Amino acid sequence: MPLTDAHGRKHDYLRISVTDRCNLRCIYCMGEEGIEQLSHSDILSYEDIIKVVEAGAELGISKIRITGGEPLIRKGIVDFIKKISSVHGINDLSMTTNGTLLTHYAADLKKAGLDRVNISLDTLRPEQYQKITRCGKLKQALEGIESALKYGLMPVKINTVLMKGINDLEVTDFLKLTLEKPLHVRFIEYMPIGDHDRGYPDHYLPLSFVEKKAKQAGMALTPIPLPGGAGPAESYAIPNGKGTVGLIHPISKHFCDTCNRLRLTAEGNLKACLYWQDEKPVRPAINDKKKLQALIKNVLNGKPVEHQMAANGVCGMVKPGTMRGMSKTGG
Ligand code: SAM
Ligand code: SF4
Repeated sequence: MPLTDAHGRKHDYLRISVTDRCNLRCIYCMGEEGIEQLSHSDILSYEDIIKVVEAGAELGISKIRITGGEPLIRKGIVDFIKKISSVHGINDLSMTTNGTLLTHYAADLKKAGLDRVNISLDTLRPEQYQKITRCGKLKQALEGIESALKYGLMPVKINTVLMKGINDLEVTDFLKLTLEKPLHVRFIEYMPIGDHDRGYPDHYLPLSFVEKKAKQAGMALTPIPLPGGAGPAESYAIPNGKGTVGLIHPISKHFCDTCNRLRLTAEGNLKACLYWQDEKPVRPAINDKKKLQALIKNVLNGKPVEHQMAANGVCGMVKPGTMRGMSKTGG
């Protein structure tokens, strides 16, 4: 019996934030000063996360994504990946990372059972990378991408948040990247999430902009079947390209009707929707699998039909959602 919500959507995917901390400070994700960090004792232990995964796997969860904050800064991440990859029923294990530490970890992560990575990269220009991340070095992220390719964390997907006035002039450079390398560049619409003002209305751009730029550059975007685990991305190939292009429109064409995700926050709360405030702690049920499973079903039952980040494709919030930024919920 598949795990379904009250709106009939099948759920097989759990995204787990293993930390709210990060070694970068991306302008669209958190304020300059970072976030108010959880103390170590507030973070759900690896042991407890595994209990949630085991309970979920028995119900039909088969795909897990590890995220954060930056998952590679949590101690013991490789051993944790090893444990999670051996949970019966989990057949797709991925990670979202900024990639800056991947040169150190890619080989071990692959050996531990990680299937693939999504690496966030919003610019190909060193100075702009420093500005967007406020402290990062582009070279480290690019080397991380090379390591992911080298050790076969495939398909290697690149997450690029499109922002007007920040990286919109680089759309064709990212498209060209897919001609040269077997990378799957996914443009993502900037989302108004969290509690600080990031000049959202000034920077939001619908992804029709990418289609326009591709056309102007004479790069025909041809629809293709989704590469492994593509989720909500519309996928395209450019003739003679080694990689693909994905478009993820959470705002202008939201994909709530096919949402298959549950989320576990770093402090151990289950959330059924990235946007809304509703979440329930797993700790009271953590030592009883039946209770955990009842909790998962309960959270899923209360899943709203859709987020309210924008009305009719117009940018801007309609109803106040969660005050958590992406680094706290796990993007
Ligand atoms: N630190 C890791 C990383 O950057 O890949 C994982 C966590 S990060 C919160 C996960 C994803 O959320 C990243 O791809 C990031 O670009 C995306 N993200 C964060 N804030 C966003 C926003 N306001 N709109 C769209 N995507 C956002
Ligand atoms: Fe860190 Fe990822 Fe947020 Fe950037 S997007 S600040 S790398 S958690």
